[in-house]
This record gives sequence, C-alpha cells and structure tokens, in this order.
Amino acid sequence: MAKIIDGKLVSASIRASVADEVKALRENGICPTLAVILVGDDPASAVYVRNKQKACIETGIEPIQITLPKETTESELLSKIDELNRDSKIHGILVQLPLPEHISEEKVISKINPEKDVDAFTHESVGRIVEGKYSFLPCTPAGIMKLLEYYEIDVAGKECVVIGRSNIVGKPMALLLLNASGTVTVCHSKTKNLSEVTKRADILIVAVGKAKFVTADMVKEGAVVVDVGINRMPDGKLAGDVDFDSVSSVASLLTPVPGGVGPMTIAMLMCNTVFAAKRAHNNKKA
Ligand code: NDP
Repeated sequence: MAKIIDGKLVSASIRASVADEVKALRENGICPTLAVILVGDDPASAVYVRNKQKACIETGIEPIQITLPKETTESELLSKIDELNRDSKIHGILVQLPLPEHISEEKVISKINPEKDVDAFTHESVGRIVEGKYSFLPCTPAGIMKLLEYYEIDVAGKECVVIGRSNIVGKPMALLLLNASGTVTVCHSKTKNLSEVTKRADILIVAVGKAKFVTADMVKEGAVVVDVGINRMPDGKLAGDVDFDSVSSVASLLTPVPGGVGPMTIAMLMCNTVFAAKRAHNNKKA
C-alpha cells in the first residue's frame, strides 16, 4: 500500500512559518497585503477565493477582496489592476481564473506588475522560470516541489512524467522538474500509447481534469504519484485525476484528493505574498 503524501500536514507547517514571518514583518511596520480580484459569480471560483482569504487571515496577511460583476468590461478590469499596481500598500495581485469570456485572460495577466505577480503567470515570471532564475513560482507546481522535498524524493536523474500541458500546471511543473535535473516527459491529449509512457515514470504528476483517469495499470510499481486534479463527482464529493483505490496498491507514495496538492497551492500563495512584501520593502530602502 502506498504511503500517503499529506499535503494538509506539510501546508500547515508552511503556513505556520509564514505566520511567524508575517508577525515579525508587522512588528517592523510592514503589513503584507494580497489583493484578490473575482469577476462574476462562478461558484467554484468563489470557493477558491474564500479559501485564499481564510489562509490570509490565518497567517496575518491582509486580504483585499475585489468582487466585480460579470458585466465588468475588459478596460474596467485593466484600470483596476493599474490602480493596484500603483498602490504601494498592495504587495500581491491575483486575478481568479477563469474570467468571463469577453475578457482576455492574457491581456489581464500581462497587466499585472511582475513584482506583484504572486501567481507567477505573467510573461516575465514564465520567462524567469524557463531560465531557472525565478523569484516567484506558480503556486501549484511550487507546492508539489515542496511536497517532494518534504518526503525526501530526489528528482535528479529520475524519470518524471507530467500528464497535462496547461500554462498553469503542466508546463511550469515540467520546467521545475527539469530545473531539478529530472528526465522529463510531458503528455497531453495527442500522446500515443499514454500508459506505455506513464509506466516509465518514477515520478508521475497528473493534471488532466478527468476524474480517476489514471489507473493502476498505467503506473510503475513503486512510483511516486502526485494527483493535481480536482473533480466534483455527481454525489458532490471531490475526486482526483488518479483512481486512488487501485493506484495505492502500486505506487510507493501518493497524494490524496482532497488533502494533497490543494492545500499546498494556497500555502505557496502565502509564501509568494510575503516574499513580495519583503522585496518591496527592501527596494524602498535601497
Ligand atoms: P487544463 O484543462 O488546462 O489541461 C488539461 C490537460 O490535460 C491538457 O494539457 C490536455 O491535453 C490534457 N489531457 C486531456 N485529456 C487527456 C487525455 N485523454 N490524455 C492525456 N492528456 C489529456 O487543466 P489544468 O491544468 O488547469 O488543471 C488540471 C486539473 O488540475 C483540473 O482538475 C484542475 O481542477 C486541477 N487543478 C488543481 C489545482 C490545485 O490546487 N490542486 C490547481 C490548478 C488546477 P491538451 O493540451 O492536448 O488538450
């Protein structure tokens, strides 16, 4: 039976150290502040935003929530971001995705000052990740790297397979594994003989968005399997992209859903916000 990778436990320890750091910063008059913009009334997005706000409060970070109606125009949203870019009290800006269809996500993300880009989605942040010279890392892949580190899984020289090539998860995940000297293969919907590829993986990261997509026959005995997927099942429960019950008999380590990658994503957002606040303060002093 696979050992469970406990994202709740690891994220709690990260949040506790963020809280200590925030306390020290506040004692020095620095109040790390995160602005989260939500456009429209997508219920899943509202839950994600609420969880981020909760984590801010718990760690002492000041949350500023900006909720805009779904009719908000692209130029109104861009002006709002401009305003937040100029506000020196705001250290991090996050725009909850997806945006309503009439708004270009690319234009909106590009508008965020890279110094405040705590999601690491701007072109500048992505370019830095490609070069391996980053200040912010995208929260989900960064959280996964932290989990691997915590469980002392050395990536160097390992066969790493990532299923999914989204800009948010799959691609940056592959880059981080590559930066850690893994031998990386990225799979997607056009990949032929998927299970032949996945069966080579010492470390398998699954970010497909399809419930229970990866089954035991796709996994090498003893592999480390990280499930990024969050799928709402008809009974209202959450399921990952990995068939937990069957894969746990083959894998050596496995993340559950919920309680695996999800809590790490938010913990890394808190880390990025504190980093941004410290950097803004140091830049002001210089
Ligand atoms: P996307 O829909 O953007 O990407 C899914 C990827 O899966 C695509 O690259 C797609 O390939 C690939 N794919 C789809 N079908 C197949 C298939 N049959 N075989 C192989 N590859 C396939 O999703 P995201 O990356 O944004 O998210 C993935 C999952 O992770 C979702 O469940 C999402 O909810 C979850 N998520 C969880 C987070 C967390 O904090 N835990 C954070 C972010 C996301 P192609 O490019 O060819 O279409």
